[in-house]
Amino acid sequence: KADARFGELENYHVLMMFTKVDKSKGLQEKFQLAMRSMAKHGRFLEGEVLTLHFVSDETSRELGERMLPELLLDATFQYKVVFHDVSVLTEKLFPIVEAMQKHFSAGSGAYYSDAIFFLSVAMHHIMPAGLCIRQTIIPYSGTAELEQNKQVTESWSPTQLLTCCFLAELKRIVQLDLDLKYRSNIRDLFQEFTRFPPGAVIGISREMQPVYRHTFWQYRKENPKSRVGEPPPEGQPGFNSGVMLLDLEAMRSSVLYNQLLQPARVAALAEQYHFQGHLGDQDFFTMIGMEHPELFSTLPCGWNRQLCTWWRDHGYGDIFQLYYQCEGPIHIYHGNCNTPIPDD
Ligand code: UDP
Ligand code: MN
Repeated sequence: KADARFGELENYHVLMMFTKVDKSKGLQEKFQLAMRSMAKHGRFLEGEVLTLHFVSDETSRELGERMLPELLLDATFQYKVVFHDVSVLTEKLFPIVEAMQKHFSAGSGAYYSDAIFFLSVAMHHIMPAGLCIRQTIIPYSGTAELEQNKQVTESWSPTQLLTCCFLAELKRIVQLDLDLKYRSNIRDLFQEFTRFPPGAVIGISREMQPVYRHTFWQYRKENPKSRVGEPPPEGQPGFNSGVMLLDLEAMRSSVLYNQLLQPARVAALAEQYHFQGHLGDQDFFTMIGMEHPELFSTLPCGWNRQLCTWWRDHGYGDIFQLYYQCEGPIHIYHGNCNTPIPDD
């Protein structure tokens, strides 16, 4: 465990996809809301650092570097920003996920550029190596205590960029969408890692629309007593990938999880469940979760309160609420399918 007294910093790692952001005003607005609300509600202890990883192209990175200092102005904690080149990650990822892409992508082909939608699936293979990245450290210097950390931060000016740096092996990372609004301290989400049951490698919330009831229609017809695609709490509605806790150490050491990444195993399950999806990683997790629910720790719905209601108006109005309802505190709103997020 890191000890702030010795200038060690404990890192909380989060990762966001951040591509083509310069091309979309809508995405920029989502990014602003996400970062401002994360900064507003974030509370960390002395000696702790929130490390924000962005997977981006060059123009998006330049935009992000320009916008972030202002968006995180209210942060009362130290943070680091690390940009990862999407083309570098895609090159590493493609051989691992190529075979599964056809089962979980729109269209028939396995497009090289779509591999990045499966980053979470193989994050434990992608993240450990030393990566050539750009890094900005913005020290929070609000208290005398933090002055003691100078040996760590003094060589960095707030806007300084390194063209290359090496990360220690990552143990845990939280992957987050950009279309989120935080209402709670992001640090509290990391406490959910400690609630993983034995054998679980990923923490994820359930999907809140009957989308997988639809995807699994043929399997459900052949297996009318199955809980596959049924609503909570008894059923298995599938997962939503907007907020994911990736226990990279557990993912690396789980024999079962790594077997399920093998092309033959994926193909066999896709055949068994008659599965053809187009939602990338969340389809993969949903499908393997039907067979091996013990690999997943289901997060309380309030950590990924999805707002999209598309399926209510497309044939599932009668049972929609069974999926959509979410009791308990809402920590994170997810404005998926471009749904506006309430102001309160
Ligand atoms: N994203 C991106 N560039 C894009 C589209 C999406 O970086 O052009 C990232 C972004 O982090 C976003 C995530 O991919 O939150 C998933 O997309 P989105 O949230 O729009 O999907 P939804 O939640 O509506 O299914
Ligand atoms: Mn989203």
